[in-house]
Amino acid sequence: MKKPNTLARYIGYFVLLATLCSCASYNFYTPRHDQRLGDKMKREIESSPTLYPILAEADHQRIYDYVNGIVDTLLNTGLIRFKDEFAWEVMLLDDADVLNAFVAPGGYIYIYTGLIKYLESEDQLAGVIAHEMAHADLRHASRQMSQKSSLSTVLAVAGGATGTGYLTDIGSSLVSLKFSRSFEKEADRMAIRLLCATDYQADGLAGFFERLQSIGDKRPPAFLSTHPNPRKRVEKIKKSAAELNCQGSKTNRRTYQRMKRWLR
Ligand SMILES: [Zn+2]
Repeated sequence: MKKPNTLARYIGYFVLLATLCSCASYNFYTPRHDQRLGDKMKREIESSPTLYPILAEADHQRIYDYVNGIVDTLLNTGLIRFKDEFAWEVMLLDDADVLNAFVAPGGYIYIYTGLIKYLESEDQLAGVIAHEMAHADLRHASRQMSQKSSLSTVLAVAGGATGTGYLTDIGSSLVSLKFSRSFEKEADRMAIRLLCATDYQADGLAGFFERLQSIGDKRPPAFLSTHPNPRKRVEKIKKSAAELNCQGSKTNRRTYQRMKRWLR
C-alpha cells in the first residue's frame, strides 16, 4: 500500500487535532513524553542548586525513608494508573521559608523543608503528596501543554519526534507551572480517593489548607499562589471524604513531630 506523504499525514493529524480540541481532556503527548519531560525538568532543577537546593539523600536517609514510605503507601492503593511507568521519586528542597511542594511530569515530587516543618501530622503531608501525585498521574502538565502548544510543536509530537528539542520551548517554563482551577479540583478529588484507600484520615489535605489559612498574610505561602481559594477547597475536601465514607483515622502526629526534629 502506498504510504501517505508527509503533508497528507500532517493534514490527517490536523483534522484529528481539530476533532480532539472539542474535548477538554485531550492530550497530544504520550505517558512516555511525560516521563521524558519530567526527566528534563529534573535535570534542570539539579543544575540550579541556588534556586532548588536539594537536600542530599545520603545525609538525610531517615527523612527520605519516611517520606518515601508515604509515597509507597499511596502507590500501593491500586489507584495510581502510571504506578509502574512513572518514576515516583521524592526530592526535598532545603528552604525553611518556603511552604510549597510541586510535581514534575513523570512523578518527580519536590517538597520544601519549610512545608514539612510547617505541617503538624503525617496525614497532612500524605494529603499534600497525594495531591501532587494526582497531578502527575492525571498528566495535568501535558494536558495543559496540549491546550497551549503551538501547532508546530503538536505536529512534531504527532509526527513522532523522538529528540527532546521540541520540548525546549515548553519544558523550561514548566517548573513554575500553574494548573487550572479544574485541574486543581481534579487533583483534590483524586487525593481524597487515594487517602481514603489508606489508613490515613482522608481529609488530611483539608487540615493542611486550614493551617495555611491561619497564617493570614504574615507570611504569604507560595502554595497558595498556585493553589488558590483554600476555604472552598477545605469544605469540598471534607464533604468528599464524608461522601466516600472514608474510615481511616491515622494521623501519626507524634511520629511526625519526631521526624521534623531530624531536619534541624
Ligand atoms: Zn495542585
